[in-house]
Amino acid sequence: MEHKKVRVRFAPSPTGGLHLGGVRTVLFNYLFAKQHKGDFVLRIEDTDQTRYVPGAEEYISECLSWCGLKPDESPAMGGPYGPYRQSERKPLYRQYAEQLVASGHAYYAFDTPEELENMRQTLKTPENPSPQYNHVVREKMRNSLTLPDAEVQELLTRNTPHVIRINMPANEELTFTDMVRGEVTFNTSQVDDKVLLKADGMPTYHLAVVVDDYLMKITHAFRGEEWLPSAPVHLLLWKYLGWEADMPQWAHLPLILKPDGNGKLSKRDGDRLGFPVYAMNWTDPKSGELTKGFRERGFLPEAFINMLAMLGWNDGTEQEIFSLEELIQKFSMERVHKAGAKFDYEKAKWFNHQYIHHKDNETLAALFLPVLAEKGLSADPAYVATVAGLVKERCYFVNEIWDHGFFFFQSPESYDEAAVKPKWNADKEAFFTAWSSLLESLTSATAADLEVAFKALATEKNLKMGDVQLPFRIMLTGGKFGPPVFDIVATLGVAETRNRIAKGVDAFK
Ligand code: GLU
Repeated sequence: MEHKKVRVRFAPSPTGGLHLGGVRTVLFNYLFAKQHKGDFVLRIEDTDQTRYVPGAEEYISECLSWCGLKPDESPAMGGPYGPYRQSERKPLYRQYAEQLVASGHAYYAFDTPEELENMRQTLKTPENPSPQYNHVVREKMRNSLTLPDAEVQELLTRNTPHVIRINMPANEELTFTDMVRGEVTFNTSQVDDKVLLKADGMPTYHLAVVVDDYLMKITHAFRGEEWLPSAPVHLLLWKYLGWEADMPQWAHLPLILKPDGNGKLSKRDGDRLGFPVYAMNWTDPKSGELTKGFRERGFLPEAFINMLAMLGWNDGTEQEIFSLEELIQKFSMERVHKAGAKFDYEKAKWFNHQYIHHKDNETLAALFLPVLAEKGLSADPAYVATVAGLVKERCYFVNEIWDHGFFFFQSPESYDEAAVKPKWNADKEAFFTAWSSLLESLTSATAADLEVAFKALATEKNLKMGDVQLPFRIMLTGGKFGPPVFDIVATLGVAETRNRIAKGVDAFK
């Protein structure tokens, strides 16, 4: 058998922000493609113009760039199988719909919106609140299966508005093998006669997805579980168009579930529970409503990706931290779980913490400088990098460098006086005056040297280290927290340290 190059696609409809489940679909596609030295295609499925939202396509591309999951072919980059926007491929689809009509697998339907509505109202029962156009109902409707041929020809000649529907067989068993779920069987009686080509000549998703997966030589199609009910329609289209041998292998990926209760995690759950659900901030162009994103919340893309990989997959060991390279090597669709994965925001934060802790200081500094700028402050990037190195092990988010290290950028505005004042006395004051003078000669000392000098002075003055170290820390930071105190001194520098000693001594009197 000919060995086909692996080609996968992410095929979003540009209807709004990108849900983290969508990014996980991108990720699994990407990992599989890269593992097999294949191609990852981004195709924009914009055939439903009523749902089209301006800006959504650009937003999706930016999300992919931020995550480092760049496609090999896309609307923006082009490629050998373009165009990659379905609306630009419109003229291509009709021939396939007509081919299906000619072979009896599809038919013209001339029903007006009023006739369809009338059908729904007449057939509606409490058990069946929204009757579908299916193998039973179509018998009573105006289509090329029920009308005489001459009338059909006449209607077509007069350009009567019509759609093309698939002719779903009654009571046929259809089976395919899903890479995640194994064998999946459907009965065609449960499926309605989906529209394939709309009155305006645009294909629906069902026709376009099959035609494009075929023409773009897609070998594997991975998508969310919510698309599983559409699989029988697609399966039949592949068969009826005579392309069955080229049908991609499918995998329907498990849903990402709410942390509390059941059901798919929605944007509203994020709003309700106070965490992001979209990859990046998204502002709805119509309502102006802003939905917060992981990027703006302060997630590093590597952490976001790693967290997503673990939502529904593991490598069979306890390992949780994987670089993208490692994921490419180890990922396998067979190890993706069938059951939905509960989203756990605390775990997501844990991943970010791990990555921040191990991130190089220069990168953290670059990410933190804008946070400083927002506060009207600026600092030398090398200085910010040193600070980042001292506090990063405590940070879950880049902006927390501020919470744990604000005193590196401004002198404390207040002190934890209760921790110092009751035990403050003239001896301590004299110690700090001496220490401040001594510091003048220690301008290039390391943290370790500073500590030795401080200890020696304390001993000389008959003070215990513990008695002077805490007041010293509070002079520098305002409180009892922070990295090792002599690291703070070495970072702030002697001049600033001496200012803070003078200020502290004054305040504690
Ligand atoms: N356009 C569909 C979506 O918006 C694609 C589903 C598929 O991958 O087949 O998710």
